Amino acid sequence: MGLLDALFRSNEILGIAEETLEFAIESSEASHPNEYMGFLRGTEATRLGLEQDGLVITDVLVVPGTEANSVSATVKTSQIPNDVKALGSVHSHPNGVIRPSSADLETFGRGSVHIIIGAPYRRSDWKAFDSQGKRTTLNVIDVDLPETEDFFDFTQADIDEELY
Ligand SMILES: [Zn+2]
Repeated sequence: MGLLDALFRSNEILGIAEETLEFAIESSEASHPNEYMGFLRGTEATRLGLEQDGLVITDVLVVPGTEANSVSATVKTSQIPNDVKALGSVHSHPNGVIRPSSADLETFGRGSVHIIIGAPYRRSDWKAFDSQGKRTTLNVIDVDLPETEDFFDFTQADIDEELY
């Protein structure tokens, strides 16, 4: 296996943590009738105790300065921290139509998976799309998420491990 294959494999999105999906759905419902919007971040599967290479979506980063109303949520790109490597995005459609709008398609090029959650925000009221706006499969993975403080508590040894 070549280096590029290895890189690709390790960046593969295996799915979304069930807890993270439920959080996004609950947040969408709480924002109703306004639109909810966030960016998706991942954790290496091996850090979550999975014996697989790849990333699991574990975080939704809600960007400060998002102007939400019932029509659209506009993110000011200047508000997105440079160090955020978003895997994709999540946003809600308070009108319940779970289909990318033309404005959505213009932003989907950034990131590889985009989740749309629709009213009435039941567990099944969401779909995932790729950067082209085509329906894509996103597995829901039942994993225990690390506590936030542990999650950010990288040691020098962890960093060395990442680098070498
Ligand atoms: Zn939309």
